[in-house]
Amino acid sequence: MNTVFAPLAPATALAPVVERIETLLVDLPTIRPHKLSVATMVGQTLMLVKVHCSDGITGIGEGTTIGGLAYGGESPEGMKLAIDSYFAPVMIGEDATRVQALMARLGRMVKENRFAKSAVETALLDAHGKRLGLPVSELLGGRRRDRLPVAWTLASGDTTRDIAEAEHMLDLRRHRIFKLKIGARGLKEDIAHVAAIKRALGERGAVRVDVNMAWNETEAAFGMAALADAGCELVEQPVASAAALARLMRRFPLALMADEVLTGPESAFEIAKAAGADVFAVKIEQNGGLYNAQRVAAIADAAGIGLYGGTMLEGAVGTIASAQVFSTFADLQWGTELFGPLLLTQEILRQPLDYSDFELTVPDGPGLGIDLDEERVAFFARNGLRKTISAG
Ligand SMILES: [Mg+2]
Repeated sequence: MNTVFAPLAPATALAPVVERIETLLVDLPTIRPHKLSVATMVGQTLMLVKVHCSDGITGIGEGTTIGGLAYGGESPEGMKLAIDSYFAPVMIGEDATRVQALMARLGRMVKENRFAKSAVETALLDAHGKRLGLPVSELLGGRRRDRLPVAWTLASGDTTRDIAEAEHMLDLRRHRIFKLKIGARGLKEDIAHVAAIKRALGERGAVRVDVNMAWNETEAAFGMAALADAGCELVEQPVASAAALARLMRRFPLALMADEVLTGPESAFEIAKAAGADVFAVKIEQNGGLYNAQRVAAIADAAGIGLYGGTMLEGAVGTIASAQVFSTFADLQWGTELFGPLLLTQEILRQPLDYSDFELTVPDGPGLGIDLDEERVAFFARNGLRKTISAG
């Protein structure tokens, strides 16, 4: 008799669970040295994470930083350690289909580690999209656009070379928005560099700068006035603090963008409340994942702050995870800078991404909509074949 009235198993008992989590480091060279005020990069390390589920589906995600630990508190090596040692035990055996619930559980057990969380959240969403046959954008409420404008960063450190590079990008019809990395040199030298590039490009290309917090407030006041005169349309994070950004707002005729101070919805709310930015550079890793990036975008919209899709110079996986989210934003007034894969010399996808006519196509296949070329990934993996060959 008891068997007749045996309670039904909870619906989730039959749901696929996270079975195994795999992490690897992939070292790829860059096409040229990439100079920022915080570091000069000659290569990029991708921390790839694969979430293997009990229904045979595997999702991929990526954690990447700028210049190792030069930009923030997480490194690719540190993310791998955190995921292997602390994330995996919390995630294994859990329902793989309830991504937000699993990320909330992870949030209770693991503090900070925003970049690593973004990587595993990407992998869970990729797996669930593949499971349902839907692009990640559709799991996030639905895309509003299939193509995203992509800015290029001129950061060779040499004015003549940067102008030649910009002309080449215009000829290729790949980019017409150019971001210049400044702040490593003296202020006057930097301004002359920006002015020379804008003069050369004229109306054919927009020029913006990223100072990566290198200026103090006095330098920023002088610098922003001079940048506006030079025809620069936007300055990104010239100073370090949110309070200093707020003091610089609306004093000069160019837009002020927050980047490094934006570390999730709480910071977005504080900056919005203090009227500390005209534009938010939204990055999935810096904000702790794709859902958080959407929360930040909602705060920006409510506060009348413009949106720009930022990059942590991710490879293809992180770039497309970002593209899937940015495609859902109500507004994307300043476009994106999702050029990370183009900075790398090696392709790790079976089918390369489509960068054409100044835009990137957001893939529309299930999950992220991309396929890793596993042989190439294995070749470039740390301790993989390439390491052996290139020793010395
Ligand atoms: Mg920046």
